[in-house]
Amino acid sequence: MTQDTTTPMMAQYLEIKAQVPDALLFYRMGDFYEMFFDDAVVAAAALDITLTKRGQHRGAPISMCGVPYHAAESYLQTLIRKGFRVAIAEQMEDPAEAKKRGYKAVVRREVVRLITPGTLTEDALLEARSNNYLAAFAQVRDQSALAWCDVSTGALHVAACPLVRLGPELARISPKEVLLIEQTTQNITDIIQDAGAAMTELSRASFDSGSAEKRLCEVFRVGSLEAFAHLDRAEISALGAVLDYINLTQRGQLPLLQPPQQEKPSGTMMIDAATRRNLELTQSATGGRDGSLLAVVDRTVTAAAGRLLERRLSNPSCDIEILTVRQNQVAFFCDNATLRADIRQSLLAIPDMERALTRLALDRGSPRDLGALRDGLVAGMALGQHLAEQAPFDLASLGLGADLAAYLQAKLMADLPLLLRDGGFIAQGVDSDLDAARRLRDDGRSIVINLESGYITETGVQSLKIKHNNVLGYFIETTSAHGARMMAPPLSNRFIHRQTTANQLRFTTVELSTLETQILNAGSHAIELELQHFRHIRDHVLEYAALISDITKTLAEVDLAAAWADIAVQENWIRPELDNSCAFMIEQGRHPVVEHALKRGRTGSFVPNTCDLSQGETPAIWLLTGPNMAGKSTFLRQNALIAILAQAGSYVPAARAHIGLVHQLFSRVGAADDLARGRSTFMVEMVETAAILNQAGPRALVILDEIGRGTATYDGLSIAWATLEHLQSVNQCRALFATHYHELTALAGQLKGLRNATMSVREWNGDVVFLHEVQNGAADRSYGVHVARLAGLPPAVINRAQTVLQMLESADRAGQAGAKTLIDDLPLFRTPAPTPKPNLIEEKLRAHSPDQLTPMAALQLVYDLNALLDPKS
Ligand code: ATP
Repeated sequence: MTQDTTTPMMAQYLEIKAQVPDALLFYRMGDFYEMFFDDAVVAAAALDITLTKRGQHRGAPISMCGVPYHAAESYLQTLIRKGFRVAIAEQMEDPAEAKKRGYKAVVRREVVRLITPGTLTEDALLEARSNNYLAAFAQVRDQSALAWCDVSTGALHVAACPLVRLGPELARISPKEVLLIEQTTQNITDIIQDAGAAMTELSRASFDSGSAEKRLCEVFRVGSLEAFAHLDRAEISALGAVLDYINLTQRGQLPLLQPPQQEKPSGTMMIDAATRRNLELTQSATGGRDGSLLAVVDRTVTAAAGRLLERRLSNPSCDIEILTVRQNQVAFFCDNATLRADIRQSLLAIPDMERALTRLALDRGSPRDLGALRDGLVAGMALGQHLAEQAPFDLASLGLGADLAAYLQAKLMADLPLLLRDGGFIAQGVDSDLDAARRLRDDGRSIVINLESGYITETGVQSLKIKHNNVLGYFIETTSAHGARMMAPPLSNRFIHRQTTANQLRFTTVELSTLETQILNAGSHAIELELQHFRHIRDHVLEYAALISDITKTLAEVDLAAAWADIAVQENWIRPELDNSCAFMIEQGRHPVVEHALKRGRTGSFVPNTCDLSQGETPAIWLLTGPNMAGKSTFLRQNALIAILAQAGSYVPAARAHIGLVHQLFSRVGAADDLARGRSTFMVEMVETAAILNQAGPRALVILDEIGRGTATYDGLSIAWATLEHLQSVNQCRALFATHYHELTALAGQLKGLRNATMSVREWNGDVVFLHEVQNGAADRSYGVHVARLAGLPPAVINRAQTVLQMLESADRAGQAGAKTLIDDLPLFRTPAPTPKPNLIEEKLRAHSPDQLTPMAALQLVYDLNALLDPKS
């Protein structure tokens, strides 16, 4: 078979598929989306649905699978999660229309949307409490920039982004999809892949800054881009690519985008990708939200506030004024417990207005989206009144939603259907035609009965009935006896004879046949009228988009402040003192996630610890030594997390805190290799350490855990030593440095600002008790063997380790040279320790009881034992 024998429908399919070669094509056929050829094979496997065949193409059967239209969202969710892009081709006309063009005419279909990870808008496809960003990276000559947009909320941002900052910025924003100019260099694509985002290449035209400028001016209805701060060519190019791609995927329907917000790097704490990962800010080490700082501190009620919290934790601020406002808001709710509880209760009634508004703007909205706005506005107004005037929030916008709320309340039913096409959402009394159509649809029978009694009065025929059958539809029936009267004027002018049966005559009237058509059409007419109203209401609502956005922001801020206060009061957090000094004084600080885990598992209570990284006017470094499992990593991380919480605007888990704002946060904790990029564990450690030493400035806070552990003792010790000196003399920043190289503690006397601290333990009855307390001073032991025993290493290994340790330690006391000689001599370092053979002599002796041996047998035993002796010994 050749292409020529392709059926008209398949020809249409292939033509559409050619427009979207990178996406799975959902091809609408009646109540199903069908997939064909390779798309079907791939989708059937990904969705675990049946793969069938339909007809032939070029002599081969066509693979096919399909999903029902009504359930498409859940299938789309699976496909998007698995990294696919999906193009939706809808039927653009009624099949009846197509038939008019000829028997073989195919229903016109078009791709109405391209669904990609970065352009989702449906609640079912999105995580309610996470922003879903689409980003674009643009380079124009020596400038480069990143723009990012949450299509589901309309938020649009842009920032200059030198290539070295791309990784950290992607880690901060965490986009689901990144747009790039075609043929970008490998190192850039590597960075994007590392960030875990899908990558989409666009043509040069999409990134052209000239046409981007025009596009931006059109979309935001401004004469010049000067209206939005000063954007450079790269920023304009990145924004242009984002707009272009939204346009492409939404097929011309732009969401309600907010004017681009230009972000300045100085405004927020710089945290690189490795640090974010290490500290498990928004994702735990295993990749999910559970176990992250975000999951533990999220007490927000609404999804919009959940997203705001995620943004604040990802972007801690360095602006004292902003932070003071946020702290005042939290303080207000801490001081007003009853009000806080009431407000949190009323926030429960506030739906996700941001996303509802976007769906409406994209013509994808449902009656419930309008309902979400109505309910949110009403609840928002009540909340605004309740919060009263003394609250430190700008609540003005909440009251301004009154008109729109009243409008929506008047227009919409209280309970709303999920789907537009189901109708039943416009309130009674809004439109008399609609009410009449509904009456007809619902009460057709009673209207007919009314008409019937009218006819009985008019004709005087008591036995007259209006009946219905499939052939005639509605008709009026009388007995033959009365029929003659009705066939004669004047009644015959109104009653048109239709049929005569054995005993009956049947009539109709113009009125009855009109009523019949109306009853038949009432349902669809009612829906049509409702759709017209929907469009009208939607247009009206969209005029209020900016106000709704303001209201949503205000409500999210109120929610977040109340949530911070809730955790502060319940978990005993305090307001940190923030300024521009280099102080870092955390009294009795706690690790929020570990404390939460201990509480939940009822496995003990968290031991608070103090950290002071300032020496008068200069930053200080703490060198932390201590046994394994004593809590060093926990202590290091808790201080980094406290800085983040403080600069996100929250209270912090401590008894008192004084923090000079941290502008850069670096952490090197834990170890994992990066085999995909050809990096061993030690290499990863060194790359991260290099980044810190090269970048950390005086306003940085650096957390270093076990630098140099992944290599030989002397290499590791030397690297740790030099790193510590560099931090103190060159970086001159606040730092916490945990190590098992106890030798380093000697540096405390030599380096200014370096202080020794240790985790205390108590030895008791040969056991070690971890007190988890940080104290002044240095540790002399690591108790590693003890931890190895706790971990369940075989007793033989533990005993052997103990022996080796004692030998090493006594040699060490004899001097470094002694230790070196011992290491060289120890069989442990040359050949594996010998595994003891079973002791045959011992076995032999145990097999005999002396009391039961005859003198002869005893003598024989001596011979036997002697024979068992090693011949050399
Ligand atoms: P290693 O040197 O083996 O890496 P470490 O000294 O870094 O150990 P951590 O990983 O910080 O030890 O802590 C070990 C465990 O001790 C934690 O998982 C936690 O359960 C508990 N822990 C740590 N700090 C505290 C504390 N302050 N209060 C109570 N429990 C703690």
